[in-house]
Amino acid sequence: MLSIIQKLFCLNEESRFQRAAQAFLLGLCAPLGWLAITHVLKITATDPVYEVALYSYITIGSILAMVGFALCISRSEEHFAKMSLLDPLTELYNSRYLLSRADQEFSVFERTGQTMALLMADIDHFKYVNDRFGHAVGDVVLQQVAKIMQSSVRKADIVARVGGEEFALLLPNSTTEGAMILAERIREKIEHTPILLPDGEALNVKISLGVSSTEEFVPQVFNELYESADNALYRAKRDGRNRVVKAVETDPLTNDVAC
Ligand code: GH3
Ligand code: MG
Ligand code: MG
Repeated sequence: MLSIIQKLFCLNEESRFQRAAQAFLLGLCAPLGWLAITHVLKITATDPVYEVALYSYITIGSILAMVGFALCISRSEEHFAKMSLLDPLTELYNSRYLLSRADQEFSVFERTGQTMALLMADIDHFKYVNDRFGHAVGDVVLQQVAKIMQSSVRKADIVARVGGEEFALLLPNSTTEGAMILAERIREKIEHTPILLPDGEALNVKISLGVSSTEEFVPQVFNELYESADNALYRAKRDGRNRVVKAVETDPLTNDVAC
């Protein structure tokens, strides 16, 4: 029944015209439906059951119509709410979601002292990939790298695309050691996984990662953790790329421009 209502009222892509047409049809069908019922049941206005049947028809019809539209609206609300938190290319979370979750996790850290870690990752020489193979291939690379990252983490971890070819991985309840192991695993996986291009060619890319955690220093705000991981990433780039670098205590105070 539910799917019939949904099919009736939620014809794929919503447009204003479609919605108006649906409302028009619904408005038209209501009296026609009543006419059909009275015809089939052969009842007239003089029948004693007429009024009961009419009120039942109006009540059930209104409930079904309201429920149908409510389902439609809530489905599209859910869809748009989800879309506003995702990066459309990689389907990873976007910065907005990362920061809101980071705030929550940071509150947990402040309240309970439970450690959290942050990985900042950046594809090496990605501009070359775009220049050499084209932007479309660059997009495929971004999607594959995102897939590898997402498949490497635990359910509670948050993987976000925070820039063109930059990613952040927020690891709640994680130690520096655990985060370093994960970062190295991701780096190796990306280095050794050939990315299949649409024309059948295969391409290997490498990434650099910076790792920081609340074990290393006590950040006052989440942004300090972010900056320290970003500065560690900057050092990974400076020291030759394709490596994982752990943040040092001075990292959040270094105001180097990261990669
Ligand atoms: P490094 O090793 O220092 O990180 O060098 P890089 O070339 O990776 O870094 P750079 O910042 O010079 O270049 C980043 C490139 O990423 C430039 C930009 O065109 C590309 N880029 C940003 N967003 C997208 C995107 O959505 N799709 C594609 N294909 N390319 C993108
Ligand atoms: Mg890069
Ligand atoms: Mg970059």
